[in-house]
Amino acid sequence: MSVSEFNIIQRYFRREHAAPGVTLGIGDDAALLMPTPDMTQVVAIDTLVAGRHFPEQTTATDIGHKALAVNLSDLAAMGAQPLWATLALTLPDVNEDWLAGFSEGFFQLAGRFNIALVGGDTTRGPLTITVQVQGQVDASRALRRDAAKPGQHIFVTGTPGDAAYALQQLQAGEPVADELLARLNRPEPRVTFGMALAGVAASAIDVSDGLLADLQHVLDAGACGAQLNVDAVPRSPALQSLDDTTALACQLGGGDDYELCFTADADCVEQVYRAAEDNALPIAEIGIIEPQSGIRCVRDDGSPYSPTVEGFDHFRDTDG
Ligand code: ADP
Ligand code: MG
Repeated sequence: MSVSEFNIIQRYFRREHAAPGVTLGIGDDAALLMPTPDMTQVVAIDTLVAGRHFPEQTTATDIGHKALAVNLSDLAAMGAQPLWATLALTLPDVNEDWLAGFSEGFFQLAGRFNIALVGGDTTRGPLTITVQVQGQVDASRALRRDAAKPGQHIFVTGTPGDAAYALQQLQAGEPVADELLARLNRPEPRVTFGMALAGVAASAIDVSDGLLADLQHVLDAGACGAQLNVDAVPRSPALQSLDDTTALACQLGGGDDYELCFTADADCVEQVYRAAEDNALPIAEIGIIEPQSGIRCVRDDGSPYSPTVEGFDHFRDTDG
């Protein structure tokens, strides 16, 4: 390597800024962090592998953004406030343009949510990015999957399916509209809204594998089922030109949107809508939790609908 590991860290990752609770950040053997008294630590980690979690042609800036965004999304789904991040970077070579772009994408997003990069590791190998984030939440207000209970209303933020449609177009070699591509490459973690839902909503999950698959995780944890009105799932303008079955396949089965799917007791629904309005974030009520296991999809007129998709599972799909 022409640039030493030390120089990479100094040049691209060591940013001095006063972050809450950071006694000692990058530069020592480990970081010293001070949690807020009476708050519970929330920890999540996600790895992005080139060609697997993002197309090979994805720009470094987008990769930097996405590596942090998918982790912030996990904190959002717990209702947690982001505090600190660590970054394990495996690089095939030292490409300073790439590093500059990557760190720009990473720190732009980090700055918006005031999350500090406090450490990491840098190695050589096939391009792989692991980010670990830490945040905090009042444990009694955390959005746990096992809090889903019959009678609760099911909501989703934004327009799920956009990222999947963008990927489909990319893979088919078709041109992709900028706004649609941004839904794949620059997902917006619903951090502020997630924090607003803490203590208001019951359960939450971020949609990374597909709405149905992710909702099923919530239902498994809560030992319940759901009725879902597929016509109530918002469809973005980009998907309007598709036939209904294809559009629904994207909306119900497409991953990578990082929208929040959450449930709330009937007497909290008003507060949920107020939180959405405060955050200028569109939400939609898409179903109801029921005691009987499984997801029963229906249309607006109440007739049953059989979705043509299952959620994406890294160990179930054929290309491993
Ligand atoms: P050690 O050999 O003791 O693990 P390293 O040389 O790996 O130390 O790391 C030196 C310092 O730089 C540590 O504080 C570590 O957390 C930080 N660091 C290393 N790589 C990164 C990275 N990609 N991003 C942020 N901090 C990093
Ligand atoms: Mg190390």
